[in-house]
Amino acid sequence: MRLPYKGITIALDSGNGDFSFISHAHGDHLNGIGRQRNFLASEETYELADLGGELKAIEGAKLINAGHILGARQLVLEQDGSKTVYTGDISLKPNIFGMAAEISQCDRLIMESTYANPEYKFPDNFEVYSSLGKWVTENDSSNIVIGAYEMGKAQEIVRVLNEYCSIAPVVTENAEEVCAVYEKFGIKLDRSVVGSGEAEEIMKKRFVAIVPMRHAKRYFAANLATAFERKTLVAVATGWALRYRFNADAAFPLSDHADFDDLLYYAGQTGAKDIGFFEGDGSRLITALKSRIINPLLNK
Ligand SMILES: [Zn+2]
Repeated sequence: MRLPYKGITIALDSGNGDFSFISHAHGDHLNGIGRQRNFLASEETYELADLGGELKAIEGAKLINAGHILGARQLVLEQDGSKTVYTGDISLKPNIFGMAAEISQCDRLIMESTYANPEYKFPDNFEVYSSLGKWVTENDSSNIVIGAYEMGKAQEIVRVLNEYCSIAPVVTENAEEVCAVYEKFGIKLDRSVVGSGEAEEIMKKRFVAIVPMRHAKRYFAANLATAFERKTLVAVATGWALRYRFNADAAFPLSDHADFDDLLYYAGQTGAKDIGFFEGDGSRLITALKSRIINPLLNK
């Protein structure tokens, strides 16, 4: 998607414009940016996504916090007295690092709708952190592998294990690269990277490892149990745990996205009259927003 702005075009989370606004470093927001040289993004995103080119500023274009993962921002554009906001992915409720989306009033809103279905109602992040922490502690005679996306979610879980269990987990090399950027921007994460001497020491005793989602399966845990001669449990940490069953011993609905009520609240607070969506289907959200306008009793 591209937005014309003061005689230039700004590509949203894609290439093919005079400038590219990159909301955050997840791969599905980096399409076709190979030849782009002019980026609007946070410094954190620039590093996490290894953008190349140059970070630029455009007069009248502002970046505000989006929550979600380190460096995630929303784009606010003001032109001829009208304001447009593009959200990228957002999370409203603060995570363990205190990251949360800001809300800017606007006329036109282009927003994410990944979980724009009333079925999705995420528990409070800190409730999930504590149930994950409790599960890891209760199973302290087993090795544990936790499946999570390696950018953003893995770092959140490292911190949860540090704070709730005093455990420094073992992470993959990919997750480690992201951890290093988090630390560069002041977020302390106590972990060790698989293959290092430190990790090998840790893995002589009972350990907790964070692995890519594709490895968070019972057969993978069974292989580890054989290799390390210790019972091994597997869990996943993902918002999709609300909807799908996973081949795991436990599933924690930890999401870095806004849920349906959050999106509804967010859209209402912006006051936008013109709302469009990317990612997913926003029709349920529009219906709910309209019913709130028609029936003020629903406005809480
Ligand atoms: Zn994302």
